[in-house]
Amino acid sequence: MVGAQSGGVAVALVGVGPRGLSVLERLLIRLRSSPYRGEVTVWAVDPVEHGSGRVWRTGQPWWLTMNATGAEVTVRSPDSDVPGGGLVEWSNQAGWPHETVGPVDYPPRRVYGAYLKDTFDRMRASAPRNVRVRPVLGEVTEVTRMDGRYLLTVDTLGTPLRVDKVVLATGHGAQQLSDEQRRLADHGEDRYLAESIAADMPLDAVAPSASVAIRGLGLSFYDIVRSLSIGRGGRFVRDQSGRLAYRPSGAEPRITAGSRSGVPFLARPRFDEAPETAPRPTVLTEQRLDDLRTAAFRNTGTSQLDFAKQVEPLIMAEARSAHASCAGRQNRTRLGVRVEDVGQPFRGKRFSSPQAFRLSMMDMLRTDVEEARKGPHGSPVKAATEMLRGIRPLLPSVVDYGGLLPGSHRDFLSRFAPWSFIVSAGPPDEHVEQLLALIDAGVVDVVGPAARFEPDKQSEGFTVESGRVAGSRRTVDVLIEARVPVTDIRRSAAPLTQHLLADGVISEFVNTDPITGEQFASGGLAITPPPCRVINDAGVVNPDIYAIGVATEKTRWFTQVGTGRPGKDSPFCREADAIAGDIMSSLERDSRELPW
Ligand SMILES: Cc1cc2nc3c(=O)[nH]c(=O)nc-3n(C[C@H](O)[C@H](O)[C@H](O)COP(=O)(O)OP(=O)(O)OC[C@H]3O[C@@H](n4cnc5c(N)ncnc54)[C@H](O)[C@@H]3O)c2cc1C
Repeated sequence: MVGAQSGGVAVALVGVGPRGLSVLERLLIRLRSSPYRGEVTVWAVDPVEHGSGRVWRTGQPWWLTMNATGAEVTVRSPDSDVPGGGLVEWSNQAGWPHETVGPVDYPPRRVYGAYLKDTFDRMRASAPRNVRVRPVLGEVTEVTRMDGRYLLTVDTLGTPLRVDKVVLATGHGAQQLSDEQRRLADHGEDRYLAESIAADMPLDAVAPSASVAIRGLGLSFYDIVRSLSIGRGGRFVRDQSGRLAYRPSGAEPRITAGSRSGVPFLARPRFDEAPETAPRPTVLTEQRLDDLRTAAFRNTGTSQLDFAKQVEPLIMAEARSAHASCAGRQNRTRLGVRVEDVGQPFRGKRFSSPQAFRLSMMDMLRTDVEEARKGPHGSPVKAATEMLRGIRPLLPSVVDYGGLLPGSHRDFLSRFAPWSFIVSAGPPDEHVEQLLALIDAGVVDVVGPAARFEPDKQSEGFTVESGRVAGSRRTVDVLIEARVPVTDIRRSAAPLTQHLLADGVISEFVNTDPITGEQFASGGLAITPPPCRVINDAGVVNPDIYAIGVATEKTRWFTQVGTGRPGKDSPFCREADAIAGDIMSSLERDSRELPW
């Protein structure tokens, strides 16, 4: 048995993207300073690439970029003992043969991936003498308990790995199709491209002459559009008047896109220097949240909060205050657009024709680009949206582990979270300007709000229509879902999740109001607060299996890498450290009791 060959204690990292890597870092730091001198094997299992993992793998095209600037990205904790620093410092080191990243650049994902991969290699090389980090290229499909240890079936290994501790850092997993998606897929067969990340989609199979519908206008939409334009040989050129134009290669399909809101993700403001870290909220403070919880407990018997009634007004007050102080610095008396209206320009509106909608949307996007270029200090609207972005890392303390009432949790995930992403998690302004150029060139069209996508009765294609734009209905050959699959363990297509769920080793996090009994079945993986141990279907905490990162989304909120900052402590590092600390304590404790 491979695991048995290792002797000593074995830990498995299942998934080695940023979160798995982070646990590895903390484990090695703790092992280095531990009195424990027994043999430790860390199996680092990932089917794609170690460190970068699937999302950030190094082989993807350059036009797929991060939506965070170089200065905002790291995977190292502040006391990291592996040289190299955050992404910017690392990419500027002497001898680095690839692209360098400046503090305000939006790096290609593959560059961040190279940094993660290199960090993995360096960590592995610097492991203490009694520790071996062993990469395995493969997918863990099953974890079963045997003789007090765990057997991990890996699809590329003939024999299972035998380990003592398992860390699930499986990130974004594939999901089974919903009933509605199944209907579309059955109708179109290979004309329907299911939810995935753009780098994994068979976009090359889309014929140049095809008409294509894209459902979703978020970051995946931008990825797909860039792949079908820049990726097809098209170029953007700026004319003498400063206007950006698109020069098609002729290999682009014709694209129609749509979503519920009809609003493409808006641009992040442009920065002249490294973006500030989280803003200092003056209204949404920890003390205020504590007070709210205490009052809620006194009044209702549960400290769970109502997000829309109790927390959102504080967030909006922060955003308005950022808006007002930016406007005040410029002596502007009129505040312009209301913060609440940003990202919802078409709410309640109807349009008499596709042309009328197109003009309105292009106008909105042009204004957005202009505002973004003024930066967060020059544009009150962008000051407000950056405040919303900066507040995101504070919200886990509000939302995680049933912090909200069940109905409010549902409302947060289905209403507030998507809206906040539209306005504050968008691409750089260049990408929005390029979208405008593509619309101008007739390569892309946005159908309008309340978009509907249906199988076409007369062909194998699909119909696309906006419920609020007269005459917007059209037929297309191909339908592409532009959405990264949302974590929902009930719909997971991953064999490992399906097995663990069927065996009752893991369970779904069901948010329950202890007073009324109201429940919200979230679809998230049930875990304890750090050290993030999984909870089985009988509600019993497993002392040996942990879960971290995107795999725990919905039980938690905002598990993205964007929570870290070079040289700064973050929940990102703290959670990884809590898992590493828990593994170490049981290792040190057991070493006193067992003859390892
Ligand atoms: C296209 C895309 C772009 C993004 N851009 C940004 C951004 O710009 N900024 C930002 O903050 N966040 C971004 N995110 C969110 C981002 O995914 C997370 O911030 C980060 O990658 C999460 O890290 P993770 O380790 O939890 O998950 P992942 O990065 O998803 O890593 C999980 C790893 O687990 C592996 N794995 C899964 N199942 C198994 C198994 N059974 N056995 C072994 N290995 C397994 C996968 O191959 C993968 O490598 C983006 C996400 C996507 C999908």
